[in-house]
Amino acid sequence: MVALSARDKAARRRPVPLPVKGRYRRIKTVVAGLLLGLFFLVPWIRWDRGGDMPGQAVMFDVPGRRFFFFGLEFWPQDLPLVLGLMVLGALGLFLATTISGRVWCGFTCPQTVWTDLFFTGDRLADRIAGKGTPAAKALRQVFWIGLSLLTGFGFAAWFTDVTTLPGRLLGGGLSSGLFGTVAVLTATTWALAGYARERVCLHMCPWPRFQSALLDADTLVVTYDSGRGEPRGKKRLPLRADLGGPGGDTARGDCVDCNKCFAVCPTGVDIRDGLQMGCIGCGLCIDACDDVMGKLGRPGRLIDFASEAGVVPKPRRLLPRPKILIFGAAMMVTIALLGYGLLAVQKVTVDLQPQRNPPFVRLSDGSVRNDYLLRVDHRLPALAAVAVSVAGLPGATVRFGESEGPTLALGEDRSGSDRLMITLPRNALDTAGLDADGHKPIILVLTNAATGRVIERENSYFWGPP
Ligand code: SF4
Ligand code: SF4
Repeated sequence: MVALSARDKAARRRPVPLPVKGRYRRIKTVVAGLLLGLFFLVPWIRWDRGGDMPGQAVMFDVPGRRFFFFGLEFWPQDLPLVLGLMVLGALGLFLATTISGRVWCGFTCPQTVWTDLFFTGDRLADRIAGKGTPAAKALRQVFWIGLSLLTGFGFAAWFTDVTTLPGRLLGGGLSSGLFGTVAVLTATTWALAGYARERVCLHMCPWPRFQSALLDADTLVVTYDSGRGEPRGKKRLPLRADLGGPGGDTARGDCVDCNKCFAVCPTGVDIRDGLQMGCIGCGLCIDACDDVMGKLGRPGRLIDFASEAGVVPKPRRLLPRPKILIFGAAMMVTIALLGYGLLAVQKVTVDLQPQRNPPFVRLSDGSVRNDYLLRVDHRLPALAAVAVSVAGLPGATVRFGESEGPTLALGEDRSGSDRLMITLPRNALDTAGLDADGHKPIILVLTNAATGRVIERENSYFWGPP
């Protein structure tokens, strides 16, 4: 990689790159459309969970410390799954970079997608109000602020009921946390996509610094075929003899030095200077040059995704490269582990806290009672109450403080907690099998109160007189 040239630095002051048509422009537009569609529309998908549960298919419920994804529900204890997803994403990024350089940066990175959107707004403003006029500048700001607000709203929609969000936003009924989310996202979008733009890629993002370690001689990166293009020269000059032209002392290569590749580049890179840190691999310069070559009646792909070996030949090895095999295998293992983790997700969690001060209470009829605090959380589709019984302590009875029976009602938030009392009658004490210290292991059996199906077992201890 080479340092940015003075021309590249000057390009950063260029307001808006020229628009371009072509294959990579179309791919960029389709990918951006899909990603923006996902970002703005997914929160609007409904999913009936019954009761007071959120009716949003995908939602980060921060106050409830849950994440809903259609029929799945994730809790903080599922953090290893999130870490697994992050590892999978990182491996996918490494793999894509090894194969095709910075395709993530050029096509899918949010900074690229939003900057592209803002460029479109700028061009529209120039077209409506006249390029460089004060009215165009004002109109640009209108677009910037409008798009930023929309982004802030779209981001907040992942954390709350989106159907009521506009009303709460306009009516002042938004929590300070959500209001702050909208405000911060609006401000950062305005600053990063409206003002900073490619400066984020050039100066703030650490990824370009790492990615060079992943590139090898077979990685496809945007490359200018200098062997064919040089010496560059004006169109009127004769073409080199080996390219089919008349040749001569002033003969030029295929590059007519029109600067179109440079003018369309969103990061202000002249790819003819070689692979540079500023190049995000978006392919727009390929489209621009192909257009020029087409008009000149010359073959396209003077600039192309190619390996370090040059535009011709194409990469020698694409798949059997060690790095690709390692990343591919690591991704497979991660996917298998994630699949196993998803299947093994605990549907019911039980928190049983013995109240050991004192460890047991002797009642007036001689029976012995232990108190516990039981909390049950679940993510089953239908579970209104659990019935609790004790195994391993013959004769013991179970009673909750609230229901005064062995049943714990679970709320609409799929959780319930209450004081649990396990009582051993006087006449069962001798045969209960308490050890010399007066305690005995027990198993709390939780069943679905409606169906009688066992849903969880929890180990604990019962304490009595030594
Ligand atoms: S040099 Fe070409 S591929 Fe690289 S960022 Fe500029 S336009 Fe995109
Ligand atoms: S667009 Fe093609 S012909 Fe024009 S300057 Fe760039 S490489 Fe040369």
